[in-house]
Amino acid sequence: MDFKLTEEQELIKKNMREFCEKYVDPIAAEIDENSRHPAEVFQKLAEGDWMGIPIPAQYGGSGADYLTHICAVEELARSCASTGFTVSIHVGIASMLILLFGNEEQKKTFLVPLAKGEKLGAFVLTEPGAGTDVMAATTTAVLDGDHYVINGTKTFTSNGPTGDTYLVFAWTDKAAGRKGMSAFIVPRGTPGMTAGNHFAKMGLRSSQTSEMLFKDCRVPKANLLGKEGNGLAMAMTGFDHGRTGIAAQAVGIIQAALEESVRYAKERVQFGQPIARHQAIAWMIADMATDLNAARFLTYHAAWLKDQGQPFSKEASMAKLFASEKAMHHTIKAVQIQGGYGYCKGAKVERLMRDAKITEIYEGTSEAQRMVISGNVLR
Ligand SMILES: Cc1cc2nc3c(=O)[nH]c(=O)nc-3n(C[C@H](O)[C@H](O)[C@H](O)COP(=O)(O)OP(=O)(O)OC[C@H]3O[C@@H](n4cnc5c(N)ncnc54)[C@H](O)[C@@H]3O)c2cc1C
Repeated sequence: MDFKLTEEQELIKKNMREFCEKYVDPIAAEIDENSRHPAEVFQKLAEGDWMGIPIPAQYGGSGADYLTHICAVEELARSCASTGFTVSIHVGIASMLILLFGNEEQKKTFLVPLAKGEKLGAFVLTEPGAGTDVMAATTTAVLDGDHYVINGTKTFTSNGPTGDTYLVFAWTDKAAGRKGMSAFIVPRGTPGMTAGNHFAKMGLRSSQTSEMLFKDCRVPKANLLGKEGNGLAMAMTGFDHGRTGIAAQAVGIIQAALEESVRYAKERVQFGQPIARHQAIAWMIADMATDLNAARFLTYHAAWLKDQGQPFSKEASMAKLFASEKAMHHTIKAVQIQGGYGYCKGAKVERLMRDAKITEIYEGTSEAQRMVISGNVLR
């Protein structure tokens, strides 16, 4: 058993930290305030080969392992949860699904530009009436000659307004139940696909989230990902990867909360001594540091299992569940440690608290993670 990252993983983590200090930290508060997609940061991420870490070099990526990508997401989220998440869903779901299930032509056409960071990916599954209950989806894809015609309304699509390559899930045979949904690669600009209502959010504000509207959207048969009817199974595989990324996002948030708490507790003096000397505050910091370690190990373990080619569905859910709930808990404590100042705009902990909440909701709520975990344990 080895609890250490490899030298290469450590180096990439360190390089990503330096990248964040240079390009992300200086704008993190501003892009949150203005709900702005930082295109200039994504340009730099592309130039630095950060947008396709676990994608093989032949498809435009860096050919590193998944754990390395997870370390990069953690560092990004430590500076800006939105930026970390955007990379996570772009790599962990959009790009990974094309890598795992796409044919050679699809990989050349769609995966290479994603892995190089020239294009941004999106995962289009959720609908207004189908959140946790994916089977309640109503979007359809009907074969018409050599095209599928997609009709329906999707919602909460991350990178909806800013994406280039959309993985869209629709029924090709609703009667076939779990084997009736298919996935399609739909490039931006395809007639009939438009971004609808753009959501204003509590946190994760620089990540762009919108509805996606499909009206007689004709997609070439060649853009069917994998086999017809395999959409739901592919979405679940995407979640295994993506949830590990959300866990890393939560770990980055806890790390930042801890750093902010330690800094402030040493500086702020009340009753004649730094508040860190008051045991109530010191113990909050002790719990934060302990849960950070536990969350990080769960997350790295899930990624490590993926890299060993082992099943990691249960472990990805465990990592996401634990890390996200601890991120929420400890960012509330981090605000508490900073008292009234922590409650005000401009305090990093205020942003961390708002950003932490979403990690308990998307890519499956905490309740959905408990369903996955209990389903595995009680099998
Ligand atoms: C910022 C943001 C970004 C997102 N990005 C994407 C994206 O890129 N692509 C995409 O497809 N989706 C995306 N989503 C959608 C997200 O995955 C869903 O919001 C999430 O799965 C929950 O669905 P819902 O919001 O409809 O809640 P619901 O499913 O309506 O759930 C409401 C509540 O009921 C609980 N609940 C539901 N069913 C059960 C049950 N059987 N047992 C116990 N409790 C239950 C839930 O846990 C939750 O607490 C995003 C959402 C947000 C907010």
